[in-house]
Amino acid sequence: MPSICPVCNGMQNLGTPCPRCSKSMEDYGQLHSLLAPYAPYEEDELLQQSNDSVYEGYCQHLACCPHCNFSMPVKVSLVPGTSTVGPTP
Ligand SMILES: [Zn+2]
Ligand SMILES: [Zn+2]
Repeated sequence: MPSICPVCNGMQNLGTPCPRCSKSMEDYGQLHSLLAPYAPYEEDELLQQSNDSVYEGYCQHLACCPHCNFSMPVKVSLVPGTSTVGPTP
């Protein structure tokens, strides 16, 4: 089933309130793309693993508060989509 992240696709803002100051946090992008390994040849393997297990059903984003500099990972629920985003076999 094709699932897409509404935040990655620009359909939705992250809109997470900051737990410290209650202001709106900003999306700093997908968490696992920010944590990409230094060695390029390991990247494919890591992405495959995360697609299989950890990130199933969710897209992990990093939310950052511009007001107090607090940041935290946020899980965004994937939604069914018919777009061409994503790998095609
Ligand atoms: Zn996303
Ligand atoms: Zn804050």
